Formats: sequence, structure tokens, C-alpha cells
Amino acid sequence: MRNYISYLRKIVSASRLPSARKAARDGGYMPRAPPLYLGATPPFSERPLMSETRHTKCLIIGSGPAGYTAGVYAARAMLEPVLVQGIEPGGQLTTTTEVENWPGDAQVQGPDLMVRMQAHAKAMGCEIVGDIITDLDTGSRPFRARGDSGTAYTADAVILATGARAKWLGLPSEEAFKGFGVSACATCDGFFYRGQEIVVVGGGNTAVEEALFLTNFASRVTLIHRRDELRAEKILQERLFKHPKIETLWFHTLDEVFGTDNPKGVEGVRVRHVETGAITEIPCKGVFIAIGHAPASELVKGKVEMHHGDYVKVEPGSTRTSVPGLFAAGDLTDHVYRQAVTSAGMGCMAALDAEKFLAEQEG
Ligand code: FAD
Ligand code: NAP
Repeated sequence: MRNYISYLRKIVSASRLPSARKAARDGGYMPRAPPLYLGATPPFSERPLMSETRHTKCLIIGSGPAGYTAGVYAARAMLEPVLVQGIEPGGQLTTTTEVENWPGDAQVQGPDLMVRMQAHAKAMGCEIVGDIITDLDTGSRPFRARGDSGTAYTADAVILATGARAKWLGLPSEEAFKGFGVSACATCDGFFYRGQEIVVVGGGNTAVEEALFLTNFASRVTLIHRRDELRAEKILQERLFKHPKIETLWFHTLDEVFGTDNPKGVEGVRVRHVETGAITEIPCKGVFIAIGHAPASELVKGKVEMHHGDYVKVEPGSTRTSVPGLFAAGDLTDHVYRQAVTSAGMGCMAALDAEKFLAEQEG
């Protein structure tokens, strides 16, 4: 589990930095990490190791839109919830700048939105704790969870809202241009490439859907895939191949992203033919990596039913997992929509499902 925590620390610090740089470029805004802890127990790294046991009716694991929304609803249901924030207080939206599809806000900075969600949950009476859950015992009643701080948590119901992360190729140049032309979210960032050339890497449903979506903005989209066959559904492939703005480059992998430093931005990519090794340069302003998403379901691997790989399975129309009393919400469960608003909606459902479960236990 220690390895898992250091892995999490590494990927989170890597994803925050480019976001801050992008924000600075886009108007001097810097993500305000410290306020995310306002009113919460200080983060694990700033606290001595403790060994206490906390009991709550409802433990919420995760502080993205799903977790904080669950916090609002669970607190209003008088469940006195405790929400553990994890390594990334505020979740994925703290790694971006403008969010333009959160209802009620034509434009809001992702980190600001998450500060507001935290404040809202706290104002309703949700206790917010800066800790990381390293172990969850789904077999015991009450549920038992262990925090990286040393705190042990027991809970009558648990809401898992640990999100999902886009997979990256792991190239140094990919890392260098993240937030400056390299993205893993077409819905979020496609708008910034109006009239520009874009490349998309991947051959699954996500890559094909992103390539199609990006034609709304781009002058041309090149899909780069390492084989000559797509994994995506046939119907999506048909749309892709028919689209006049999309070109597919088979048997190629991304070798390097190149661009300028001042202003920082992408100018193109170098791709390598997987058999001949020949390198080709493709000019472009945007690079979308779409090689899959990894749900953060490590805590319950082998303990609950999953779907589409490692996504936690919930009963259709509910947030009930295969373990009674354990609910799941947001990107952790969702391989299709993966949006802040859908995650928040599921957070609401999870709190209502937990409330009903607890009432049935008592009655
Ligand atoms: P997440 O936001 O992923 O949050 C997961 C939470 O779980 C984190 O707080 C993390 O610390 C916590 N956690 C994980 N493991 C543990 C653990 N072991 N113990 C305790 N806590 C843990 N969506 C939109 O609708 N609009 C956008 O404009 C938009 N832009 C985006 C831009 C980027 C760069 C990215 C990456 C995503 C974007 N999204 C956008 C998608 C959106 O961010 C996600 O759909 C949403 O954040 C998912 O919410 P969630 O609550 O399920 O999980
Ligand atoms: P995916 O199906 O796992 O596809 C990932 C793609 O990226 C594959 O084509 C893979 O190539 C390629 N890839 C992986 N690692 C790579 C690397 N290091 N370098 C180059 N290419 C790499 O992921 P996804 O498309 O995100 O889909 C995930 C799940 O969600 C799937 O079950 C999918 O059906 C589902 N999904 C559904 C919808 C929908 O229903 N509308 C939409 C999106 C996603 P190979 O093919 O060579 O392995």
C-alpha cells in the first residue's frame, strides 16, 4: 500500500504543475491549493502519525464532485458524514482551469469550483478530513477503513467516490506540454483548438469518440494508432472513416511532442512506424492522449463486482455495489460519461441510497 501511496503522490504532483502553468498563461490564475484544506483536518503530510478510531454512520471516500455532493446530501440527511479527501483534495477538476459546462456557471475555474463544493459540504455539516484511505475492509460490520495518518475509521455505510484517471504514455515531452497543448480530455479542452490541427492517440472508443468530437473545432484531426485495426465499436469506426476532416495513421506510435517555450505551446509531434522505425513529423497545435482511463478502484479490487475492467459495478439506476452498505459514485463507476455533473448526480444518489440503507438497518 505504501507503494500505491507514493505512486499516487507522484502522479498528482505531476498533474498539478502543468495545470498551474496553464492557468498562469490563461490569465494569471493559479490554483489555490491551500484553501482546499480550509476547515479540513490538515493534510496527512503535515500531521504527526496518530492512532485513533473514528466512528461515523457514513464514511465518504473521495473529494471530487461525487464525494462533496454526497457530503452535502448525507449531512442534510443527518448522517453526520465524515469525508476523507485523499491525495487530491477536490479531485480531477483541480487539475484544469476553465470549466464551461457546470450548470449555473458559464465559466468557472476548476479549483475554485471545488473550493466552493468543499465549503458547501462543510456548511451543511459534513466533516472533512485530510487523509488517504489505504485499506477498506468490506467484510466487517461496521466497515473498517485505515487512513494513511494512522487513524482507523469505522462506518455503518461507505460511499466510494475515488474517481478515475486518464492513462498517459509516460513520455517526457508529453509531460512537458501537459496543459499547453497536450490533454487527455477532448470535452474539456477541444474548444481551445478552433481552426487548428489536432492529433489523437489511441484506437478505442474513447479515441474515436474524441476524434469525432474534435472535428467540431479542428481544421483536421489525425488519429494515430499502433495497429491497423481499431478496438472501437464498428458504428464509431464507420463514422470515423467517413469523416472528411479525419485521417487515420496506422502502425504508428507517438515518439515525441515538440513545440515552443515562449509562449509555451505545441507545434507538432514525431511519430514512429512500429515496424520500420521511420519517423514522421506531423504539425499540430493539440495532442489528445486517449489510451484509456484507469478507475481508482484499488481499495475494493477483488472485494466487489467490477465491470469494463476495474470500474466498480453498481445496480442500474442506483449506486448500490455488490456489497450491501457500500455505495459507489462518479468516475469510479462510469466508463462512459465521466463528467463533473454526472459524478455530482451520482454523489447525490449515493447519499440517498445510504440514508435508505441505514434507515432499513435501524427499522
Ligand atoms: P475525482 O474528481 O476523480 O475525485 C476523486 C477523489 O477521490 C479525489 O479527491 C481523490 O483524492 C480521492 N481519492 C482517490 N483515492 C482515494 C483514497 N484511497 N482515499 C481517499 N480519497 C481518495 N468534467 C466536466 O464536467 N467539465 C470539465 O470541464 C472537465 N474538465 C476536466 C479537465 C481535466 C484535466 C480532467 C482530468 C477532467 C475533467 N473533467 C471535466 C472530468 C471531471 O473532472 C470528472 O468527471 C470528475 O472530477 C469526476 O468526479 P469524481 O468525484 O468521480 O472523482
Ligand atoms: P481501451 O478500449 O482500453 O482502448 C485504449 C486504446 O489505446 C487501444 O486502442 C490501445 O491500443 C491504445 N493504447 C493503449 N495503450 C497504448 C500505448 N501505450 N500506446 C499507444 N496506444 C495505446 O480504452 P477506451 O477507449 O478509453 O475505452 C475504455 C472502456 O470504456 C472500453 O470498455 C470502452 O468500450 C468503453 N467506452 C465506451 C464508450 C461508449 O460506449 N460510448 C465510450 C468510451 C469508452 P490496442 O488496441 O492496440 O490495444
